[in-house]
Amino acid sequence: MASTMTTKDGKPFDRSALEGLMRRRLFYTPAFDIYGGVSGLYDYGPPGCALTNNIVDIWRKHFVLKENMLEVDCTMLTPYEVLKTSGHVDKFADWMCKDPKTGEIFRADHLVEEVLEARLRGDKEARGQKVEEKEDDPKKKKKKVKTIAVVKLDDGVAQEYEEVLAKIDNYNGEELGGLMKKYDIRNPANNGELEPPVAFNLMFQTTIGPSANAPGYLRPETAQGQFLNFAKLLEFNQQSMPFASASIGKSFRNEISPRAGLLRVREFLMAEIEHFVDPEGGKKHPRFDEVKDVELELLNREVQLAGKTQVETTKIGKAVETGLVDNETLGYFLARIQLFLLRIGVDKKKIRFRQHMANEMAHYAADCWDAELLTSYGWIECVGCADRSAYDLTVHMKKTGAPLMVREPRKEPLKIEEWQIDVEKKKFGPKFKKDGKTVEAAIEALSQELREKLSLDLEKEGKIVIDVPGVGDGKVEVPKELITIEKRTRVENTREYTPNVIEPSFGIGRIVYALCEHIYWTREKDEARGVLSFPPTVAPTKVLIVPLSSHTDFKPFVRTLGDKLQDIGVSSRVDDSGASIGKRYSRNDELGTPLGITIDFQSVKDNTFTLRERDSTDQVRASLDEICKAISNLVNGTEQWADISARLPKFEGQEVD
Ligand code: AMP
Repeated sequence: MASTMTTKDGKPFDRSALEGLMRRRLFYTPAFDIYGGVSGLYDYGPPGCALTNNIVDIWRKHFVLKENMLEVDCTMLTPYEVLKTSGHVDKFADWMCKDPKTGEIFRADHLVEEVLEARLRGDKEARGQKVEEKEDDPKKKKKKVKTIAVVKLDDGVAQEYEEVLAKIDNYNGEELGGLMKKYDIRNPANNGELEPPVAFNLMFQTTIGPSANAPGYLRPETAQGQFLNFAKLLEFNQQSMPFASASIGKSFRNEISPRAGLLRVREFLMAEIEHFVDPEGGKKHPRFDEVKDVELELLNREVQLAGKTQVETTKIGKAVETGLVDNETLGYFLARIQLFLLRIGVDKKKIRFRQHMANEMAHYAADCWDAELLTSYGWIECVGCADRSAYDLTVHMKKTGAPLMVREPRKEPLKIEEWQIDVEKKKFGPKFKKDGKTVEAAIEALSQELREKLSLDLEKEGKIVIDVPGVGDGKVEVPKELITIEKRTRVENTREYTPNVIEPSFGIGRIVYALCEHIYWTREKDEARGVLSFPPTVAPTKVLIVPLSSHTDFKPFVRTLGDKLQDIGVSSRVDDSGASIGKRYSRNDELGTPLGITIDFQSVKDNTFTLRERDSTDQVRASLDEICKAISNLVNGTEQWADISARLPKFEGQEVD
């Protein structure tokens, strides 16, 4: 749903200013731009690459390093068979509907959402109420939203629309078609009637090699490569459970209508974790205690099905205890996801966790929560966290016969009482001839219940009669000379099970964009120029080196500073243009550069420099070594600016605009 976004200082958020900034300063740019571009494909420029890399680096430290996850890098090209088995070929689809006259194609749920939201806005406007802005891009605004009339809705209709919107992700194609009929939803551009929704598979198909006989797809997620390597990873982990694998790489989805800049694209960077856990014993997590008091804003499935969107602030320990979040491992990752998002600078007030409704869940999921971030496009799923149960390992094991399971010695041998059947193999052949194997297999497949009943038949009647489809009339008689059925005790020393999988799945591009919205603001004095308040750990460039003027005395200092920062692995840029110091700093506010070093005549005399912090514009002055140490600590996240400004002497010199 639309919302009025404000910046951290309470001013209205201006999306077009931020998007303009990001494109102008080359955070990202439409791919193939000079050829007219292709919707849903973007290139990242220098600050975008550095920002993404820094976020990925923190992700690795926060998850992979912290829990000794096993990182893998699997191929993006995936053979047909793998994705057929995983269910993606048949089920990884969205609903689309076509305008038969113009050939235009719409994603059905998005269209219903857009039209109902626009009508709600029209209703509000007609009643003289304040209307929130909602537009994807200026072109769309003209085409879709503006054509919706400002009309009052009948009593109760607005409420009904709100309820539909609250559960928009829960409708299947038929239901979406029903909504389109019920609410007379047409092509907003020409009011033309649309065909009913049909499924559209989101995977890009290709062939692997020159032969058309080897079809394949670009992967839609990194997960499958991790599942297929499960047995090798378990071996690598010395058969020890639980453990997690992780992977960072591009995934591809042929979105029906890419929109909202970086939020819905056709090629994007994913970071995924597959945590393999024993399904017995409640899916406990050994480190759950560390996070049990983390508070999350939870929007549960029942609330949504009732047509509402209220969240409840809940400690994750409590949410697992009451069963709202299914198990400790799922809960552990929800809390860890929030801690990661906060660590990179996401606004805590703009995070919520939304539970999937039954129809919305992916074909493999048993329970699923999305970490959603509030943006000017509404609440956006940025991290999915699904309990995929044993689905993937089971289907791949069934298909290939590979042992995608765990075998471990039991602490106590397990004694199992069961009905066992022995067949007299020598007599079986002559009696059943070519059908021998089929009959034997049918006996082998008999349930414990049937075996018990048949043991009584055998005793009473000296024979049993069983169903064997395809042999004679489908019924086969086995006399007692050929078979014994007895209750015996079997001892099992090893246990075999297929692990369940908890999967946190991060879309890095969405996180990057949402973060930029959260930390964008403008200064009182300079509203035309934005500031991106990235934490120093995340900022694309860490330091701006600013010599007071182009005086030759400053040149060696510029070089020494640059080299010294390079030595400690800190990125810097020099701005020795003729602009005023204030201007030079404000240009770099747009890139989110958190720190600035000024070289002035005092520096030439005593080798001291001023260090300026972007948000407060406060400055300290100290020796080269002290300044570099402070920068290093800020960039590593071991010290905050408050620590630095408390321990280094303040510099009160004026910033010249
Ligand atoms: P899913 O497997 O659909 O739950 O997606 C996992 C994550 O990938 C989501 O939480 C998003 O952050 C990201 N994602 C999915 N589809 C797209 C897309 N079309 N463009 C950008 N990011 C996406």
